Amino acid sequence: MATILAADGGPVEATFSPAPSWQQAMKRAIRDGRSLCARLRLPETLASGVAQEQFSVFAPLEYVARMRPEDPNDPLLLQVLGRHEEHLEPGSHAATGVGSSPPEATLDAVGDLAAQRGAGLLQKYDSRVLMITSGACAVHCRYCFRRHFPYGEVAPGKLGWQSSLAIIRRDRSLDEVILSGGDPLTVADEQLAWLIKQIDAMPHIQRIRIHTRVPVVIPQRICDSLVRWAESSRAAIFFVLHFNHAAEIDDSVRGAMRRLRRAGVTLLNQAVLLRGVNDTPRAQRELCLALVNMQVLPYYLHQLDLVHGALHFEVDDDQARDILHSLRSTLPGYAVPKLVREIAGHASKTPV
Ligand SMILES: *Cc1c(COP(=O)(O)O)cnc(C)c1O
Ligand code: SF4
Repeated sequence: MATILAADGGPVEATFSPAPSWQQAMKRAIRDGRSLCARLRLPETLASGVAQEQFSVFAPLEYVARMRPEDPNDPLLLQVLGRHEEHLEPGSHAATGVGSSPPEATLDAVGDLAAQRGAGLLQKYDSRVLMITSGACAVHCRYCFRRHFPYGEVAPGKLGWQSSLAIIRRDRSLDEVILSGGDPLTVADEQLAWLIKQIDAMPHIQRIRIHTRVPVVIPQRICDSLVRWAESSRAAIFFVLHFNHAAEIDDSVRGAMRRLRRAGVTLLNQAVLLRGVNDTPRAQRELCLALVNMQVLPYYLHQLDLVHGALHFEVDDDQARDILHSLRSTLPGYAVPKLVREIAGHASKTPV
């Protein structure tokens, strides 16, 4: 058992110790809903085998250690445990079998397939492109719009990146490259340093942005070799992190953010508004404050992309606007994210 219940009901990291390296943290991650439940002293029937078959469970122990044992509604657990709600949705495979899909729920909700400029290169917006650097993630988030993306068709690694790099090198209308995925920080630093160096050598590229959730779940990922490539780049380096709840932030995470700041990296956060996880003014306020207190600025709060298996996380627009209103009236302006939704074909994320 990794955690023991403290007097106040919070987790105590009694026998848990972080893996010595991020690669080892990946190796020993929990990949099965039932063992996740057992670890948190929850009934194993909470885990759905069908959900897990559709999108596997993957949760590093470093992240699980921040969950409250015996709480089936823990906001971190809800993000990673495949539950029965996923396949009880109208129109999903395991429902009656006769219903058709709701028109708004699709496999490619955000138009990724239409925006491909090459294998693994997406351009939806002016002057910036998004490179799918890796198909892998360090955590599987049940609400993720990429749970249906055909990553298998994108060759990751140097060979797969070459064609994207050639396109970016030729296109002088671009000034920013976004490394995304999956998650770019699941790639080894030796390869990442090579990739950053290739991009950094293109004089028209002024900014390199890393979209990542790895430092949230495995803070040891912000290791010496990462800091070295981050601080040696000519182009400005931005990290857009993905924290959804204040309980995701502990001392090891704060340490990782401090290392990034010292390397000169600008830190932003994008969160997803999720029913049952962070859909109250209080939860959002705590998240925003925890972020700015470690000098990470809330950038976007996303309305959920409606994909199969994630509809039970949906929060309606009126409730979302109420939460934002409450944040604006209690927080400094820099601590309030923009509430947006992604609509295929629009020139930017769309304000709600
Ligand atoms: C969200 C997204 C971006 C980034 O948009 P910003 O508003 O600049 O943060 C860029 N490219 C694609 C394909 C995206 O989905
Ligand atoms: S792409 Fe991001 S949100 Fe989706 S599963 Fe990976 S880490 Fe989670």
